[in-house]
Amino acid sequence: MPTYRFRCAECSEEFERFLSITAPDPESCPLCGAEGSIKRLPAAGSGLIFKGGGFYITDNRPESYKEAAQAENKGDTDKGSASEACESCPAAESCAERD
Ligand SMILES: [Zn+2]
Repeated sequence: MPTYRFRCAECSEEFERFLSITAPDPESCPLCGAEGSIKRLPAAGSGLIFKGGGFYITDNRPESYKEAAQAENKGDTDKGSASEACESCPAAESCAERD
């Protein structure tokens, strides 16, 4: 659902609302209650979040990040004395593969 920005002509309050495309604009101001003073503002930052690359940042981690994460995990298993905990660990299979 898109976020729309609105501005009250009475008190200059600006606020955002999640509205479906077909939903009508708010009729009264949430701050001062003035009716018929709400103007929809052009979508600026919020609309770009879904179109821009920033939305995909977490899915495009660089290889160096993955390697670092793997090295971190390996360090944990190399501490020894993990076999006891592994017996009840749901990830025991993958643990054994690393060893
Ligand atoms: Zn107002």
